[in-house]
Amino acid sequence: MARCFNFSAGPAVLPEEVLAEAQANLLDYKGAGFSIMECSHRGKEFQPVIEEAQANILKLMGLGSDYFALFLTGGASMQFAQIPMNFLGAGQTADYINTGAWAGKAIKEAKLVGSVNVAADSSKNKPATMPTQAELKLTPGAAYVHMTTNETIDGTQFKVMPQVSAPLFADMSSDIFSRPIDFSKFALIYAGAQKNIGPAGVTLVVIRKDLAERGNDKMPVIMRYKTHIADGGMYNTPPCFPIYLVLLVTRWIEKVGGLAALAKINADKAAKLYTAIDGSGGYYCGTAAKDFRSDMNVTFRLPSEELEEKFCKEASSKGMKQLKGHRSVGGVRASIYNAFPAAGVDALISFMREFQTKNG
Ligand SMILES: *Cc1c(COP(=O)(O)O)cnc(C)c1O
Repeated sequence: MARCFNFSAGPAVLPEEVLAEAQANLLDYKGAGFSIMECSHRGKEFQPVIEEAQANILKLMGLGSDYFALFLTGGASMQFAQIPMNFLGAGQTADYINTGAWAGKAIKEAKLVGSVNVAADSSKNKPATMPTQAELKLTPGAAYVHMTTNETIDGTQFKVMPQVSAPLFADMSSDIFSRPIDFSKFALIYAGAQKNIGPAGVTLVVIRKDLAERGNDKMPVIMRYKTHIADGGMYNTPPCFPIYLVLLVTRWIEKVGGLAALAKINADKAAKLYTAIDGSGGYYCGTAAKDFRSDMNVTFRLPSEELEEKFCKEASSKGMKQLKGHRSVGGVRASIYNAFPAAGVDALISFMREFQTKNG
């Protein structure tokens, strides 16, 4: 078996032991005679899986029973639409912080539903930044404030969360569970699983129950958060196998020491890589402003697009794969999520030095 150093931005690397455990249980789940994909979602095999996954999520977030952890489908992109459908009524305004491509998509969907105020816009800044508190122009009495904690494409991350009085909603797809934060400051948190907590096919939505209760009733029942909560998160058949993998990932997070331990490991990995970029005499050039550099997605350029292509190709041949930047911005992107090993960062740094010496 040869597992590469996988820098994919998503779907991304999963902890090897999680994959191994899923594999060991694939044909016969704990002696049941079938896999966890092949049984009733209301049966005695799957029920404990979803319940433990829900409980582990809330525990990792330090949240109590006033919140509910839902496993929905449609990706984070579905949340871009489902959120305003539930919470942006006639006569209301929602504040959106535009930090880049993902926030921009959320804004586009919300505008189809109701009135949107872009409270700050850093999406075109070069080097890439996130808005500061002083830059936010919030609407008094806003229905909610929507933010994106980590912009996966630009490689930017909020280091300090905004202070707002309206309910705060966050797309945390690409940095959820990478660091301890005060999750109780948020009324709704969502994340496509495929960056940091599992495979594609499931979206985590953690929502305050009283907020869900107040959601719009004049739309299809399946689109209402409260419908899913009322049915224990199983209004319809949930994505059972992805949820099982999310459960294994939450156990793995606990095992490695929880969010504080992961934050330290993540910060160390990112700092090493940024130090290598900054120490290259300008050969490698980070695309995010230093104060907002993401610990998850490290984005940089080389002196030319030809060199970037050569860099990614040669790295790939040495087992460092999926380093190409997003097609919309180009460059190089090293995604180093929770499950990405520190040894892979070291290998990339050695390769960067070697490449510069040969092509500088
Ligand atoms: C990947 C990503 C999305 C899109 O997720 P889908 O599950 O593909 O809809 C949204 N927001 C952020 C921040 C992302 O990184």
